[in-house]
Amino acid sequence: MFLSELGSAWHDARVEPDIAHLDSASAGRSSNAVIEAITKHLWEESRHGSYVAMDAAAQDLERGSRELAALIGHHADELVYRDTARAALRALLGVANLPVTTTVWVARNEFGPNLVEFGRRGFGVHTMPSADVYGRVDTDALENMLQFEQPDFIHVCHIGSGNGVVQPVVEIVELAHAAGVPVVVDMAQSIGHVPTITGADVVYGTSRKWLTGPRGVGFVAVRPDSRLRIDVEDMEAGATAGFIAGRLGLGAAVEELIGLGPHRVFGELATIGRAARERLTGIASWEVVEPVDEPTALVTLAPPPGFQPADVAAAAAHLRKVGLLVTAAEAQRAPLMLDNSVLRLSPHLDVTRQDLDRLAAELRTMGY
Ligand SMILES: *Cc1c(COP(=O)(O)O)cnc(C)c1O
Repeated sequence: MFLSELGSAWHDARVEPDIAHLDSASAGRSSNAVIEAITKHLWEESRHGSYVAMDAAAQDLERGSRELAALIGHHADELVYRDTARAALRALLGVANLPVTTTVWVARNEFGPNLVEFGRRGFGVHTMPSADVYGRVDTDALENMLQFEQPDFIHVCHIGSGNGVVQPVVEIVELAHAAGVPVVVDMAQSIGHVPTITGADVVYGTSRKWLTGPRGVGFVAVRPDSRLRIDVEDMEAGATAGFIAGRLGLGAAVEELIGLGPHRVFGELATIGRAARERLTGIASWEVVEPVDEPTALVTLAPPPGFQPADVAAAAAHLRKVGLLVTAAEAQRAPLMLDNSVLRLSPHLDVTRQDLDRLAAELRTMGY
């Protein structure tokens, strides 16, 4: 019944959900071990005092950082924690040594709130050319552009919030570095979902989505030889120790991912995405946006002609009412790419064939 061989192990590690949870891109379902790691620490804080409990958890915190860092190709001492990915980006921009008129190049899938952060700092933002209708960066065109002009940095969402396309980050980093340009990667949708060792100067992300760690923990990692001149210690300065229980929960989530085998998990999520896109192709007038074999489990459906954003929101609300948790992703999430909301489903390893069949049946009744 599970689409993935890992489905039953992943499912059994969690409480039975009340709904078919197809919304990992908003927040994945934490395992019992994650919840236990968090609550255990909260009890320890109350019993012994929170600084004593933190010291006692030092080894677990270190291991969590080491394993998270390994997933993104960094070292533990390059990691800084914040509450959210956005807070991590802000912390980064706060200490980066950038010129008064900073230019940044982004991809078409750029996350709307990131553009707000760039806009409020007065950055000149340019969109890199796309190789296809999905907003994937055209690396040939980029190579060419970089010969004539170099931005202060390139910022790219490895996977955006508005479709399931993976940007060719490894190639972008190679081309950018050859031109002396640093690259910052938003991994909020990619960590725990696809391979995330990219060689980028700075990467940041969040615990709560595909890693299925707790909400309230974000991270940023800066390579010591980063071409963006950033002092990790500056970022640490002024930060409190933060949500230690949450970091322990994130550590438990990363450990479970490693236990399953990250590459196996990524492969299974790709298989799930393909199965979902195949199953949902040709359902009423909803249209699967990504190429069927895009190696992600983030699947978006463009609404039938005439649907307004409010209609897509109503469709998502209806699906929730019948027990299918999905998101109406508004255009602001990817404003350079979307001009209407899309229905976004992002199943994790325990999705079943029956979940997809139910979703297809409901969509059929909602299309025109
Ligand atoms: C969710 C998301 C973020 C923001 O994550 P927060 O932890 O809520 O700040 C950033 N970028 C992308 C692409 C996202 O999907």
